[in-house]
Amino acid sequence: MNIHEFQGKALLKSYNVDIQEGFVAETPDQAIMVAKQLKEKFGSEYFVIKAQIHAGGRGKAGGVKLAKSVEDAGKIASQILGMQLVTPQTGPEGKKVNKVLIAQDVYYKGEYQIEEFYISLLLNRNTGRNIFMYSTEGGMSIEEVAEKTPELIYTEDIAPGIGLQPFQARNIAFKLKLTGTAFKNMLKFLSGLYETFIACDAQLLEINPVLKTSDNRILAVDCKLVLDDNALFRQPELAGMRDTNEEDPIDVEAGSYNLNFVKLDGNVGCMVNGAGLAMATMDIIKLSGGSPANFLDVGGGANPKTVEAGFRIILKDPAVKAILINIFGGIVRCDRVATGVVEAYKSIGEIKVPVIVRLQGTNAGEAKTIIDNSGLEVFSATTFREAAELVTKVLS
Ligand code: GDP
Ligand code: MN
Repeated sequence: MNIHEFQGKALLKSYNVDIQEGFVAETPDQAIMVAKQLKEKFGSEYFVIKAQIHAGGRGKAGGVKLAKSVEDAGKIASQILGMQLVTPQTGPEGKKVNKVLIAQDVYYKGEYQIEEFYISLLLNRNTGRNIFMYSTEGGMSIEEVAEKTPELIYTEDIAPGIGLQPFQARNIAFKLKLTGTAFKNMLKFLSGLYETFIACDAQLLEINPVLKTSDNRILAVDCKLVLDDNALFRQPELAGMRDTNEEDPIDVEAGSYNLNFVKLDGNVGCMVNGAGLAMATMDIIKLSGGSPANFLDVGGGANPKTVEAGFRIILKDPAVKAILINIFGGIVRCDRVATGVVEAYKSIGEIKVPVIVRLQGTNAGEAKTIIDNSGLEVFSATTFREAAELVTKVLS
């Protein structure tokens, strides 16, 4: 699960990581109020107005702007709010901005040079350890750095049972070429990051840029925090940060029925139980000359309601030219699936694409009876090969 920058920063702050301070606003008036507060509390003269969407690359796309007065903050907020922001991470349709973060300007001039670093924490699945990835080349084009000068991206493996060791933090700060106060501040910053990452059951914590201010403070200017969905059950507070406005409505609907659904670009919708069978079904669709429109695992606990929901979700995709239902009744009984298919037909009304059904395993016989007696027109297959041949036939 993704959360917004402003939520991630609040979490960082609660683990003693210094951040670029700010508050979220949903209207220009709120933006002005926030800017006033920042001015009183932190003495900020300038402010940055940052679109809050679940995607990076906002800076280059016009979603991050500097305001030079409180009034200016209101004006810029009114421009950014409601914008359909298109960044390399949003897809061509972009994302609507419903909230902006009004933050203090931390790029002020001073005695020392300002520097931007890249620091992220994630799980290294090869070593089974957590890993810090970091670079002196922070800012807006870390992808370019990774491509053109990968030697400028460093890593530090952290044994999860032991955690970040002081010598490792010093090694990172040293490679970032820090000295003196900034060096010390970086050590505290890194230990706070690690603590946040562990405490939140995060999959990824990425701060780009980490800023060394002109008075040698180390601050998180941006924050991308991705939480592990499988740990959300023990993180109720974090689970409450979910913003379904940011998610694809189809994914939200599928999630609410516990369906594992991934949209793909093909023309054959498929509904399968078990991820392995779903993968095999996608292969067979390819071999039959079609291409899968989705991955859908209805799971072991499938019931008529979830099957109906799956059907409805698949049919929302106009590219779907045929549907293949491939169920092996192990834990899930075929008759339940058949009932779901029939219910879906009834509630959806006419279905214009051919439906191929293969139900094998527990209660397959009952399932066949249910479908035969329902008066539905489906192509029924017994073997995998038959199902594949039917796909080829209905597509041609
Ligand atoms: P992203 O483009 O979506 O990753 O958004 P970021 O939060 O990283 O912000 C993009 C860029 O805005 C940063 O790389 C900075 O160059 C700039 N920026 C962010 N905060 C400030 C600030 O306080 N003052 C100024 N002048 N620029 C800022
Ligand atoms: Mn960024």
